[in-house]
Amino acid sequence: MNELQDEICDRLMGSKLSPHWVGGLFHVAALVLEPDFTPNVRSDGRPRQYARVVGWPLVFCEAVMGISAGLPTEDDRRTLAVSLFGTIPTQKVGKTLPPMPRKHARDAAIWAVPLAHECACSADCPLHTAMLAFLEADSAQQQWSSPFEAGFSCRSAPRKEHQTVSATSSASHHAVVAIRYLVKLLKNDSDSHSIPDALREAGKAITKSKGLAAGMQYCHNLAVHLEMIPARPSE
Ligand SMILES: [Zn+2]
Repeated sequence: MNELQDEICDRLMGSKLSPHWVGGLFHVAALVLEPDFTPNVRSDGRPRQYARVVGWPLVFCEAVMGISAGLPTEDDRRTLAVSLFGTIPTQKVGKTLPPMPRKHARDAAIWAVPLAHECACSADCPLHTAMLAFLEADSAQQQWSSPFEAGFSCRSAPRKEHQTVSATSSASHHAVVAIRYLVKLLKNDSDSHSIPDALREAGKAITKSKGLAAGMQYCHNLAVHLEMIPARPSE
């Protein structure tokens, strides 16, 4: 851990942590990195602003905030925050955040979504089998159709893929919504919203079904997939 990481973790330990961007874990870190930091007046500009200050990819920050917002207590949010800032160094990126290589983010979604559905539901759900089939067809550049349009449904969250998720949604509901975003992403490569949406919903599904430790492991592995940190020798 470098000195800055140490200082951020210290600050996180002694601060209130809101589940929102303002007053949340990235805000506390931003105030260590830029003491005169003030959040953008426009709320839709804030995620990119926080991502730039810590120097982490926007898709990663959005996934982390999604997981953080879904945690039941402030102490859980603090544990997540300290684990992240303790293991992932912040980066100096200057005035604008460099774009994330699309292939890394796309591959991360292809890794995350099946894992999330397996955690929240099971690998022998008909939708899971259909998802693995379309992923295989897509990687072989063959034609495939959406499993939802083909009539497949999740056993744990039947026909919930188009229903809006909320704080009280089940893990499997988050997982099927993540699958819907993955389908959208693979059907349209220029779609820029489906990657963060898929990674966020996958993270919520994993954390809600397997708990905080699994959510932290997901964030760590996601950081490896996004090439923010090297894989541990065992990974
Ligand atoms: Zn299922």
